Amino acid sequence: MKTISIIIPAHNEAKNIHPLYEKLEKIFQTLGEKYTHEIIFINDGSTDETGAEIEKLATEDSDIQFIDFSRNFGKEVATTAGLNNCSGDACIMIDADLQHPAELIPKFLEKWEQGFEVVVGVRGKSKNASLLKTIGSKLFYTILNTITESPVIPNSTDFRLLDRVVIDEFNRFTETNRMTRGLIDWLGFRRAYINFEANERLHGDASYGLWKLVRLAMNSFVSLSFVPLKLAGYLGLIITLLSGLSGFYVLVGKYLLHWEFASTFSDSESLAILIIFLVGILLISIGLISLYIANIHIEVIKRPMYVVRKKKLRNS
Ligand code: UDP
Ligand code: MG
Repeated sequence: MKTISIIIPAHNEAKNIHPLYEKLEKIFQTLGEKYTHEIIFINDGSTDETGAEIEKLATEDSDIQFIDFSRNFGKEVATTAGLNNCSGDACIMIDADLQHPAELIPKFLEKWEQGFEVVVGVRGKSKNASLLKTIGSKLFYTILNTITESPVIPNSTDFRLLDRVVIDEFNRFTETNRMTRGLIDWLGFRRAYINFEANERLHGDASYGLWKLVRLAMNSFVSLSFVPLKLAGYLGLIITLLSGLSGFYVLVGKYLLHWEFASTFSDSESLAILIIFLVGILLISIGLISLYIANIHIEVIKRPMYVVRKKKLRNS
């Protein structure tokens, strides 16, 4: 019998806890004897009755475990806590608000049994996503995919199944500034995708307001790519090149060859070009410093150098 850990981050989801629990129980009943399951709720600093609801469930059902955060740490950290503490042969991460259709869990398990180590839920059009959110997410994935090495499938969600190998590898990440999805994609492994239509939120409001989403997007860019860090350097290169060329043109044209157009540049205009040129040099220097910072960053977050699926070595 295989154990499946269900990981549920919850922030102000009091009214959703019980319905989700019942839905999950029903699903695992239909799955029969093949699987046992544990449910791990992470109460991410809720200010409503979420914590009490979870504790009540946990006293009724011994398969329910929970982690109660002292304050709100964000979903990325909440799911990480779940992954750090689950004991299943595989885990499934699912939102507490019933937007992720739990009835697809058997499909996730099927893919897992076929040998896929990561099964990713890909969201179709949200029924009531605002225009701003739709455009925002398009923009986010375009930028992310142009600046990162490991491609991220647009609209792939946190509704995921991970095999035990993947969980163990994930638990080696030590960086605190993280995007769970991005890190899982970074790990690689055999991936399968399952499309789903997001349900509407059962109760309550989405905790991710615009500002929090923007912050998450920035975090993802910064934690998955060095392009933002190198931006100043590239900008400096362009500025230096352009102002250098025009400075050269004015200098030679005005004072040496007495070209007509070059002579129309006044002294203060020439000075402006010189200043812009120096700004370019400054930006290049900042870019150089940021290369060193990038290297420090790489050493500090101590990402595993490589990720192994299986090995057979004489010494192990
Ligand atoms: N969540 C969390 N901590 C937070 C914000 C959200 O654990 O700081 C949980 C939330 O309870 C839900 C999931 O993360 O289970 C997704 O949050 P939400 O529905 O607000 O986001 P969206 O559906 O817009 O992605
Ligand atoms: Mg939601």
